[in-house]
Amino acid sequence: MIVRRLLCLALIFIGFENSKQPDIIAFVSGMIADDFSHTTPAADLVLINGRVWTGNKAQPWAEAVASRGERILAVGSNDDVKKLTDSKTRIIDLRGKLALPGFIDDHTHFIEGGFHLLSVDLRDAATPEEFARRIKDHAAKLPSGRWITGGDWDHERWPGGQLLAKELIDPFTPNNPVAVNRLDGHMCLANSAALRAAGITRETKDPPGGTIVRDPKTAEPTGILKDGAQALIDRAIPEPTEGEVDEALKASLAEAARVGVTSIQDITPWHDYQAYKRFRDSGRLTVRVYARTPMSQWKRQADLVAGQGRGDDWLKLGGLKAFMDGSLGSTTALFFEPFNDAPSTSGLMVADNIPEGKLKQNIKDADKAGLQCSVHAIGDRANNILLNYFEEVAKENGPRDRRFRIEHAQHLLASDIPRFARLGVIASMQPYHAIDDGRWAEKRIGQTRIKTTYAFRSLLDTGAILVFGSDWYVAPLSPILGIHAAVTRETLDGKNPRGWVPEQKITVEEAVRAYTSSGAYAEFAEKDKGTLEVGKLADVVVLSQDIFRTNPDDIQKTTVLFTIVGGHLVKEK
Ligand SMILES: [Zn+2]
Repeated sequence: MIVRRLLCLALIFIGFENSKQPDIIAFVSGMIADDFSHTTPAADLVLINGRVWTGNKAQPWAEAVASRGERILAVGSNDDVKKLTDSKTRIIDLRGKLALPGFIDDHTHFIEGGFHLLSVDLRDAATPEEFARRIKDHAAKLPSGRWITGGDWDHERWPGGQLLAKELIDPFTPNNPVAVNRLDGHMCLANSAALRAAGITRETKDPPGGTIVRDPKTAEPTGILKDGAQALIDRAIPEPTEGEVDEALKASLAEAARVGVTSIQDITPWHDYQAYKRFRDSGRLTVRVYARTPMSQWKRQADLVAGQGRGDDWLKLGGLKAFMDGSLGSTTALFFEPFNDAPSTSGLMVADNIPEGKLKQNIKDADKAGLQCSVHAIGDRANNILLNYFEEVAKENGPRDRRFRIEHAQHLLASDIPRFARLGVIASMQPYHAIDDGRWAEKRIGQTRIKTTYAFRSLLDTGAILVFGSDWYVAPLSPILGIHAAVTRETLDGKNPRGWVPEQKITVEEAVRAYTSSGAYAEFAEKDKGTLEVGKLADVVVLSQDIFRTNPDDIQKTTVLFTIVGGHLVKEK
């Protein structure tokens, strides 16, 4: 017995000394546990020697965490936690690395993100020629007739920022319809084959809330379709098969594990919900999903919830999502004043609120049915109208723990900022958008309006609940990149080394809270996750460096060493 114990200690000692990286010392600790008499059942997984930031204000830091099944058994010192091990416990020595509650992403298009991973990548195509070359290479690998979608291009990257036209890609995509989207999803470029498949011609009228961009001389569609006009193309794209959806979801789950996302608050079309359900029922979900289905069909979710309840810790209903306007990048975000670089327009209201007021009625009905309403609003006018709707509905429906959410809350009137806290409206924002749009936003909305753009600091200072996420596929899924963006506000072009609108920067801890405890609150799950506390779900991430201590510029270099969901390792180094 003593010999075995010495051997165990020796192994651990060697492990501690020989590597700078955290290491796994599984199944060698049983003898240590023999030294302690314990009555609590043993832990399945133990993390020791960490710098554990718990998010729990009563016990902000710890060395070790133990879990059993899906839940946390103990948070405390190495000694406290070692008492809970037996011969079956898996022990991970964190070697001083930082552990945090698993990241909760406040806004994903998760399965769509998987499709984008598997499709052509145009995000960093720096010129139209590069854009065309990538489509050409991708098309060459596809069977005739197969659609090319995704892409995530960004015309603001190339000199002059001109929108492209279908002629650029038609020559090498005669038999593959193409409908590749701008990275914000608010416009796409279709080729002639796709326009043909969708029946879009010179005669086709602009649908409500959308624009078919036309050649000024011939009135021929150029291939660029904005906001509501994209629906014309979407209808022509064949639905993916169940197998294709599953492939995409598998790719998404791998990406979430890679970047430390353990929960998502998803924007979920109904067919995606079915996929989550398939994965949940077969035990293949490795990320927790709060599925927010379209608000226009709130009744469908209300009926489902009445029949089967809201779900469980893996797949949960209860939230809805609608749109008020478009995006800044597509000059379709709804503002009070026109765009500086497109003075003929101040954006547009989209289908969910046409005729105006329709959205308020849906919010009112859905809220009465006990569902949580989240609405996309980018422009200052879109946000203002939405805050008015929320205020009126709360008054008309009476007091309730409703946690209304504005998704993006990007450009706010200064006078609207304090209304978030006052009305209890959650600001659900995506900091990576700030360092992306920050490259060109000023030419579009001018010096005054950018002061209250991505107003993280002002929102927190006025007491608002601020939650963070990615909007993936629109931006990269990585919370590390989001934290880096919120803390530094360094734009992607490197032109704002001290931060773009630097007075709106926030601290690392504030950004981490927006990705953890506040995120949990935003989906009514603060009792179950968001901090590392006994009884909560064992969702943990371990990082390659201590983002609380590192130079802010280096936060983006941080990698995720371990991602743990419900006490299971879904990613190891
Ligand atoms: Zn989105």
